[in-house]
Amino acid sequence: MSLQIKNLTTYHGRIKAIDRVNLHINEGEIVSIIGANGAGKSTLLGTIAGIYKASEGEITIGNQSITNIKGHKVVQNGVALVPEGRQIFSSLSVKENLILGMYAKYRKEKHLVASKIESMLKMFPGLVKHMNNTAGNMSGGEQQMLAIARALMSDPKIILLDEPSMGLAPLIVKEILAIMEEIRANLGAMVILVEQNVKAALSVADRAYVMDRGQFVLEGSADELLRNPQVQSTYLGYG
Ligand code: ATP
Repeated sequence: MSLQIKNLTTYHGRIKAIDRVNLHINEGEIVSIIGANGAGKSTLLGTIAGIYKASEGEITIGNQSITNIKGHKVVQNGVALVPEGRQIFSSLSVKENLILGMYAKYRKEKHLVASKIESMLKMFPGLVKHMNNTAGNMSGGEQQMLAIARALMSDPKIILLDEPSMGLAPLIVKEILAIMEEIRANLGAMVILVEQNVKAALSVADRAYVMDRGQFVLEGSADELLRNPQVQSTYLGYG
C-alpha cells in the first residue's frame, strides 16, 4: 500500500496555492512537509483529504484514485486529517468527539464503539479521566491528543497531521512525536506530518519535502535535510 501524488495543482480563487506537486509515501513511512507560512502545506493536506478541489493532477492509494472525491468518501478510503488548530468540538464531551471520528466510516456499526474507544484510551491514557468532560476545557496538549485519537477512530491507512505541535510546550511536543512512532508501529498507518517545528519534524520523519510557494524545492531523507546548509540556515536557525 502506498500513496502517490502526481502533478497536483490547487487554486484558492486566483491564487495557485500548490503547483504541480509530486509526492509518494510507502507503507511504514513517516514523511514530513516543511516550509514557511503560506507555502501551501495545509492546502496540500486539504486537497488529499477532499476539502479542496484539485484543478490538475492525481492522488492514488494503491490502485485507487481518490482525486476530488468528497471528504467522507476519502475517510472511507482510509485517509484521516488532523486539521490545523485541532478543530475538536469544544462543547461536546471527549467521548462524543471520539464517536464522531467514526461516523464517516462506521456510521451503522455501533457495536464497534466500545472496543474502538478502549483501544484509543490505551494509546492516549491521559484522556481517560476526561471522557465525560467538555473537550474545550482540556489543556491544549490534551485537545491535540483528542484530535489525533478522533482521526484514528476511522482506522486510517494514512493520517495527515497539520502542525500538531503548534503552541504546545516541548514536553508535550515530545509526547506527540512518540505518538507518531506508535501509529506506525502499532497501527501500521502511514503518516504525513506538516510542521513549522522543523527540528521536531525531522527528528521523527524518515523522509521530508521542503515546500516553497506551492512547490517542493528539496526532498530527501531526514538525515540529509538536517545536514543541508539551506535547510540549516532557513529553517533550523543555524549559520
Ligand atoms: P500556514 O502554515 O500558514 O497554514 P501553509 O504552508 O499551510 O501555511 P496554505 O495555508 O496552504 O499554506 O496557504 C497557501 C496559499 O493559499 C497562501 O497564499 C494562502 O494565503 C492561500 N490560502 C490558503 N487557504 C486559503 C483559502 N481558504 N482561501 C483563499 N486563499 C487561501
